Amino acid sequence: MSASGPVVVVGGGQAACTVAAALREGGCRAPVTLVAGEGVLPYQRPPLSKDFLGGSGGGFEDVVLRTRSFYDEQGIDVIAGDPAVAVDRAGRGVVLGSGRRLPYERLVLALGARPRTLDVPGAGLDGVLTLRTVADAREVRRRLEPCRRLVVVGAGFIGLEVAAAAAKRGVPAMVVETQPRAMARALSETSAAHLVAEHRAHDTQFRFGRRVTGFLGDLRGRVRGVALDDGVVLPADLVVVGVGVRPHTALAEDAGLVTDDGIVVDAYLRTSDPAISAVGDCARHPSAPDGGTERLESVRPESVRLESVRLESVQNATDTARAVAADICGNPVPYRAVPRFWTTQHTASVQIAGLTAGYEETVVTGALAAGRFSVLCFGGGRLLGVESVNRPADHMAARRLLATDAGLTAREASAEGFDLMARSRTAAMV
Ligand code: ADP
Repeated sequence: MSASGPVVVVGGGQAACTVAAALREGGCRAPVTLVAGEGVLPYQRPPLSKDFLGGSGGGFEDVVLRTRSFYDEQGIDVIAGDPAVAVDRAGRGVVLGSGRRLPYERLVLALGARPRTLDVPGAGLDGVLTLRTVADAREVRRRLEPCRRLVVVGAGFIGLEVAAAAAKRGVPAMVVETQPRAMARALSETSAAHLVAEHRAHDTQFRFGRRVTGFLGDLRGRVRGVALDDGVVLPADLVVVGVGVRPHTALAEDAGLVTDDGIVVDAYLRTSDPAISAVGDCARHPSAPDGGTERLESVRPESVRLESVRLESVQNATDTARAVAADICGNPVPYRAVPRFWTTQHTASVQIAGLTAGYEETVVTGALAAGRFSVLCFGGGRLLGVESVNRPADHMAARRLLATDAGLTAREASAEGFDLMARSRTAAMV
């Protein structure tokens, strides 16, 4: 049965916006309120570390997802600038900073995440920045203008995208990474090495396997250097720290919901309180191929982490949002989308299908030297995921293969004449 009482969506990013829009698309007529904590209408984050920084655009209109008239037409009440501070589960109400109270029949938490910061001396110096919001991106862009020495901490998605954008603006970065290579969390060695070579060709330099021990400042409190654990001090007048995020879970924790590096939800994206769902970056959902249809109560706490994932991607934000909207509209279906990620750095457009972390074996197809290839990652005897660099058709094929669990093996993929697209078509027909 579709909810008829009020639906409150707390968030304000892509996941929150998608829930509200999908509720109306799904025929939900209940009052819908979107509490946008950042004080602006929901917008897209991916461009912030790409074109917004490196290109000529950069107005809010370039990233805003829906204009005010959309929400008005859809009868979605948007409250921007009065964030939720508490959830009263017993009384089924959300309390806002102003003291205002919003009653709900169903509550959706789309709280997102905040950048991790480094707990080292000097981390608060002027010019040590993180990048998550449109305000952050504006600040990085403003400071890139007069910047001569840029240090980027972290060679993950944010760090490398910032380095590429800065190089485009004539400010090549020095990138410091604790791991021995780039993108260790998300990409195979082959794809990461290709990206690093592109960055090096644009004068970006790397310090792998090094930890930042502190930031050094001048008398006016502005950053001037980055100290590393080998005693080297890198000169810097701007530092962008991209060392991952922490999910916003405090609202859920304070309300007594189960959390574990994310708000723990079941296959229907419902938290330990079935009236409350969580979506996007803040949610930890089952990763089992069968959709993990067990109810939360039956999941042993020690197994939660093994059987669950918390993902940061537009695909995850929008697909979990649509799943929750369907649930609220009375059509619950276990969530089981194939995870997808992408990044663009210099000439490389990288699309990732599946989760390749922990892979044991890879097979490369296409033209590696020409920068158009796919890396098929296998582990535990099955295809875990595929990274496609400038090969969008391979990416679509990979998604089909992963969705059908086609039983592709590394041996088959490395055989002479193997054709990923043809294989995905036969898989789809079975
Ligand atoms: P983000 O979305 O912020 O880019 P990722 O997880 O993709 O997050 O990348 C973060 C990168 O930062 C990883 O490669 C990780 O190894 C690296 N990292 C984490 N902590 C540090 C640190 N203290 N110094 C340098 N690099 C770090």
